[in-house]
Amino acid sequence: MVGEGSLFLNHLLMIGPSYDQNLFFKKSVNYFWGYMKDADTCSSGHFPCYEGTNMMNQRLCWVVGGSVFVSVRIISRYKQELYMQQQAIPVTLYSKSVLLAEPRGFCAGVDRAIEIVERSLAVYGAPVYVRHEIVHNRYVVQGLKDKGALFVEEVDDVPDGALLIFSAHGVSQAVRKRADGRGLRLIDATCPLVTKVHLELLRHYQNGDQVILVGHAGHPEVEGTMGQAPVGAVLLVATPADVALLQVNDPERVAFVTQTTLSIDDTADVIEALRARFPHLKGPKREDICYATSNRQRATKALAASSDVVLVIGSENSSNSNRLREVAERSGATAYLIDGVEDLDPCWFSAHDRVGITAGASAPEVLVEQVVAWLHARGYAEPELISVGKESVNFGLPEQLR
Ligand code: SF4
Repeated sequence: MVGEGSLFLNHLLMIGPSYDQNLFFKKSVNYFWGYMKDADTCSSGHFPCYEGTNMMNQRLCWVVGGSVFVSVRIISRYKQELYMQQQAIPVTLYSKSVLLAEPRGFCAGVDRAIEIVERSLAVYGAPVYVRHEIVHNRYVVQGLKDKGALFVEEVDDVPDGALLIFSAHGVSQAVRKRADGRGLRLIDATCPLVTKVHLELLRHYQNGDQVILVGHAGHPEVEGTMGQAPVGAVLLVATPADVALLQVNDPERVAFVTQTTLSIDDTADVIEALRARFPHLKGPKREDICYATSNRQRATKALAASSDVVLVIGSENSSNSNRLREVAERSGATAYLIDGVEDLDPCWFSAHDRVGITAGASAPEVLVEQVVAWLHARGYAEPELISVGKESVNFGLPEQLR
């Protein structure tokens, strides 16, 4: 027994930063195991030798071994801290990690829309008018306001002869006509991927098909897309239950398009319901969800799988940011949608060592950097990347600004 005790002490002294913690845990249990029953049985160091031992002893050994493991980790950490202090190494031990999703943040459509406003200000001078928030992000909108952009909700709010920019979400034909009728100078910042959906919808409508749009009522992109055809011509659904309620003239002449920023999984369910109800359904092979939305959702799934809590940087009215929060939650993490560092609550992190960060397609990288710095100041390590791939998409500027 004395021999076994000194073996155990030797075992404790082996602790170092690179020591295999799983092995250490197993050995802790094993040495106590040997102590409890018979020193010879467990001297091999292999874990564990249960045969011939009653259940109570087994449990006791696990409890004692586990407690030793935890205590020794604390001692080990203290020793490391002391060593780092002596060596004048900054004393911060990063058992708390930060993971960053890639891709995250600005997409090509948002980049282009912001550049359109900035270049318009540079070329034509302030003020320039923008119909609706150019992209759904508070920080971006405030930054452009500071540079001289004026945001309005209706074309009629723009003075005669002024320059008006349509936001990245696109506008209906009625809004376009109204602006033309007012003689305003127009620049269109509609994302080319939204325009592609507009053209798809128009083609189906002109072919005489009943068009169904999968999307969320009230979102400006949905209003703009539905408005490519006359009022009442497009039916809107958001869930499989909505599909069951649809009334169409000819079930053999039905086509669909989708909003670009939906949840991939939810949309697949809605399209499955549409195909089940209308076997001759026309439409895209899968959906019209854009590359940026799909990539950010895939990256967020991977991020959430390794995180306790996920911070999604994006504004409350940003559709794709809200979808990222849902994706993270469905993947098992606690998730928060925040505009920026000012929304962080220290209580969110008290029980969480692994924090994942992602950002919606309209959230700038500076907000990510601020959140990373906030966490770093509270003992979190430098971020590690969880990447599902890089993006290299670019969209050209409108003719007036080239
Ligand atoms: S999220 Fe997609 S559709 Fe929306 S602006 Fe970005 S690229 Fe375009």
